[in-house]
Amino acid sequence: MKIKKVLITGASITGPTLAYWLHHYGFAVTVVERASKLRLGGQNIDVKGPAWAIAQKMGLEENIRAANTTEIGIRFVNGRNQTLAEFPKENALSMTQELEILRGDLVQILYERTKNNVCYRFGDSVSNLMESENHLAVNFASGHSEDFDLLIVAEGIGSHTRQLAFSHPPNFKFLNLYTAYLTISKAATDSRWARWYNAPGGVVFILRPDNYGETRASITFFSRDEQYRDLTLAEQKKVLIDRIKGTDWESERLVKEIERTTDLYFDKVSQVKASRWSTGRVALVGDAAYCATPIAGKGTDLAMAGAYILAGELSRGNTYAEAFQAYEQRMRPYVEKCQKLPPGVPSLVYPTSRLGVGLLNSVYRLLGSGPVQWTTGLFSQKKNPEMELELPDYNQSSGSEYL
Ligand SMILES: Cc1cc2nc3c(=O)[nH]c(=O)nc-3n(C[C@H](O)[C@H](O)[C@H](O)COP(=O)(O)OP(=O)(O)OC[C@H]3O[C@@H](n4cnc5c(N)ncnc54)[C@H](O)[C@@H]3O)c2cc1C
Repeated sequence: MKIKKVLITGASITGPTLAYWLHHYGFAVTVVERASKLRLGGQNIDVKGPAWAIAQKMGLEENIRAANTTEIGIRFVNGRNQTLAEFPKENALSMTQELEILRGDLVQILYERTKNNVCYRFGDSVSNLMESENHLAVNFASGHSEDFDLLIVAEGIGSHTRQLAFSHPPNFKFLNLYTAYLTISKAATDSRWARWYNAPGGVVFILRPDNYGETRASITFFSRDEQYRDLTLAEQKKVLIDRIKGTDWESERLVKEIERTTDLYFDKVSQVKASRWSTGRVALVGDAAYCATPIAGKGTDLAMAGAYILAGELSRGNTYAEAFQAYEQRMRPYVEKCQKLPPGVPSLVYPTSRLGVGLLNSVYRLLGSGPVQWTTGLFSQKKNPEMELELPDYNQSSGSEYL
């Protein structure tokens, strides 16, 4: 039998990247996305290391450069909006990277690159799976049924299809944080600098400019309880507003924006640690398999590298079980490195007491001081994760048929 038909669930970053490469190697690909259209929310992400190498192989360099958010660096500010420290994007300590792009723009670019060669179906999801020796029989929530050779789950951290396929759920390492993203109107205090403010009570606000004349906000707060789950939009808004109301800085502006938004992403910050990434004809990729959280700053690398390697291993012409195993062997050491969080995260970076915030602000001042910036510029090159993961050239091995 030849493996030909692959179903991918999830059309964010991982799904379309995987679809591109599978189509490139001759597979017939269907992508099913639960939302009724692409979900384009979120903040800036940086395309660097393996993600940049893969984007180049896909011919997306110009599209990504053209969508640059224009952010020039990050400022840490106090409650009176005075800058404590600033890190321009050239600085090794800056969060702003050379190729900064809105997450939604990257999703759109990947979709545009694949939509003519891949069958996309929006507003649907897998409701039931039945695996036999030769195929997977898939039933969808819409009532549609179809047989596929393989199913690759790229549904992100809260994947439902993962539950249908795997007898045991993965481990979730909750980082005692919740995070929310929303797009807000630009205000007089916004500029091409991102601003980071630590409010007392373990709340961090980050406001970043986008390339559409608006501002992308993230609100992250510390909480030891995993109490907020399966909330409606109205409930999510209430949790957020209760948490930030009365904190100083621009919290009142954010409360108003939360009240009026329809585009709110709210979730707990957890890492996904799955003991295995495949079972039978089903494999996991991206956040569904190994979410490292936005705090690790490696979500795009892991998404695109996992997709590239999984497609490449499937193209080699071994059995799908061997391909899944090879994908896991190549990716797992890199995932483990990416999931290691810097010391002090989250407790020191999200302090709950005024004293903790004061101490952290002193650290920002020190790091932002001229001599320290100069020294870090000399000694700490921005990490280049491309060097930490080999991306084989699978074109040499593709074209074989599956057993
Ligand atoms: C709306 C949104 C905003 C985000 N904003 C940021 C951000 O600002 N910063 C950041 O670092 N990371 C953000 N992320 C997470 C980031 O995209 C991922 O960490 C990373 O890029 C890996 O992506 P992924 O494709 O594996 O998973 P995700 O990006 O989580 O995408 C999963 C996709 O699968 C879809 N899906 C879910 N369940 C099903 C189902 N049962 N059937 C079919 N489709 C399903 C979802 O609608 C989504 O489109 C955001 C994710 C989303 C969905």
